[in-house]
Amino acid sequence: MATNRTFTMIKPDAVADHHIGGILSMIEQGGFRIVELQKVALSAERAGEFYAVHRERPFYHDLVRYMSSGSIVAAVLEKDNAVADFRTLIGATNPANAADGTIRKKYAKSIEANAVHGSDSDENAQIEAEFFFGK
Ligand code: ATP
Ligand code: MG
Repeated sequence: MATNRTFTMIKPDAVADHHIGGILSMIEQGGFRIVELQKVALSAERAGEFYAVHRERPFYHDLVRYMSSGSIVAAVLEKDNAVADFRTLIGATNPANAADGTIRKKYAKSIEANAVHGSDSDENAQIEAEFFFGK
């Protein structure tokens, strides 16, 4: 079922570097409506659960440590074609490959500390939104 919602997190590096406002501004300028918004610190257990799909990847333990290293900002965003349009707005996982004008091009530091998360499907957007905001 296609929906018009996606889920995002502003990751610990971007929060620590005072980029919450800049990133939310790019999101709103990109035509997304902020439906839910919450600043929160993830425990290693919660971060591990969120990224459980990557459990077998070599970077999993570093990723969990990074995502629980400081506060994140979780949000649900609304726009037509939200999932795909938001992936376009954030840019490639590795900022070295991120297009000009994308959030990761502007704010990501590395392939791990890449400033933002964006859901990769409508189904995961729903699951991830419920992980933070219930329903
Ligand atoms: P996200 O799911 O956070 O939006 P993504 O969908 O672009 O990112 P994934 O493949 O789902 O990328 O990887 C999840 C996260 O794991 C990445 O955003 C990044 O923080 C980290 N990551 C991915 N690949 C690597 C890697 N090769 N080395 C270190 N960290 C990585
Ligand atoms: Mg992903």
